[in-house]
Amino acid sequence: MTDPETAPPRPRTPATTFDDLPLDPRLRLGVRAMGYTTPTPIQDRTIPPAVLGRDLVGTAQTGTGKTAAFLLPTLERLLELPPGRIYALVLTPTRELALQAQEFVRQLGHHTRVRGAAVYGGVGMLEQERALRGRAEIIIATPGRLLDHMSRGYVDFSALRILVLDEGDRMLDMGFLPDVRRILRSIPAQRQTMLFSATMPPEVVRLAHDYLRDPKMVQVDPTTAAAVGVSHLVLSVPATRKTDLLVELLRDATMSSVLVFVRTKHRADRLVDQLVRRGFEAGVLHGGRSQSQRVRALDGFRRGAQRLLVATDIAARGLDVEGVSHVINYDVPHEPEVYIHRVGRTARAQRQGDALTLVSAEEEGDLARIERLLGNKIPRSQLPGFDLTAPPAADPGRAPFPGGGRPGRGRPPRGSPPPRSGRRDDRRGGRYPARRARW
Ligand code: AMP
Repeated sequence: MTDPETAPPRPRTPATTFDDLPLDPRLRLGVRAMGYTTPTPIQDRTIPPAVLGRDLVGTAQTGTGKTAAFLLPTLERLLELPPGRIYALVLTPTRELALQAQEFVRQLGHHTRVRGAAVYGGVGMLEQERALRGRAEIIIATPGRLLDHMSRGYVDFSALRILVLDEGDRMLDMGFLPDVRRILRSIPAQRQTMLFSATMPPEVVRLAHDYLRDPKMVQVDPTTAAAVGVSHLVLSVPATRKTDLLVELLRDATMSSVLVFVRTKHRADRLVDQLVRRGFEAGVLHGGRSQSQRVRALDGFRRGAQRLLVATDIAARGLDVEGVSHVINYDVPHEPEVYIHRVGRTARAQRQGDALTLVSAEEEGDLARIERLLGNKIPRSQLPGFDLTAPPAADPGRAPFPGGGRPGRGRPPRGSPPPRSGRRDDRRGGRYPARRARW
């Protein structure tokens, strides 16, 4: 690896304000409007080389400002170029991330003429076609939909000079790599390429070298580190009692904004169904929902209208929702890196948050792999008063889980409704045990 850089020692004095970074005053206005005063370490260390057009690989913990770290230099480099051509392409793994980055371009670039557009599946092609035909200079795209447009012949990448692979390790994994390779074949070889992620397995870095030229390696934290500010706890529970335990946990009023991760779309729908029957309102986000349903679910959760969102791993990476108090892994992820991304949905921008993982006996192997990656054991505990040996509670309105029978339309139970605090903040504590780990 050329020019490896790890902290410390630092190669230069850290920028204490955005004025110390080589950014146009118009961009500083955008930064100020976002409420940023001090560059984060990844911004401090990647913006200067990126503005000069250097290829780079940037790794830093979740929630530490990587989006602005690649968008600010991208905007800077496009400021003086005539509008109407595509100069920068940002590839992201999910529609939600494309929309989120588009919003960052709009806000950071508010005082410039540079326009961004998101290109992703599940919605009409026409407006995206217009953007690709010259109405945007920065395209933020998911690969599949972009290739759809490219196959229709009107996408002109001849002026492209910047490529960003957001969530770079995901973009170069087996799932996305064939699409990404096809896109790479259609864009100029003479370009700046930047790769950003919180996790970056060594084999991805090796692969990345096929696509980057003499990249500057900027690593703020180990690529195996979960965000500072996350408290981790494991709760052992039989697979058949997970919903019962979750329901008990959710009675805790400090759980003001909870993201629950499950392994599959089907399990997400089933869990939401079970929660609704027990009187909890929950949104659901997975790849089987329509785009408008996805937008509505995320929006309701963002606004705090819904304190619970059940999601598959399409929500694991990059999503920036303010004030997520708890991430609950209802299912343990198979890939250990996914754990780091999931729990990174909380404790963003120097806040704090709790990550609770419900582990059945069958999932112990996956948990052990996560702990190996983290280099730490996650403390285990039990919810006081929760009898692990009791049979699964019957779902109101359906046969007891996991028995047979199609779910009927049950009414939520009467009696104590789930507490709703309505507040999104960093209050800690709660009913579940205090013995948690923070690294
Ligand atoms: P990201 O890692 O790009 O998803 O950013 C995580 C959160 O940090 C987002 O809410 C950003 O708006 C916020 N953020 C990014 N840069 C800064 C900064 N320099 N100061 C304060 N907050 C920031």
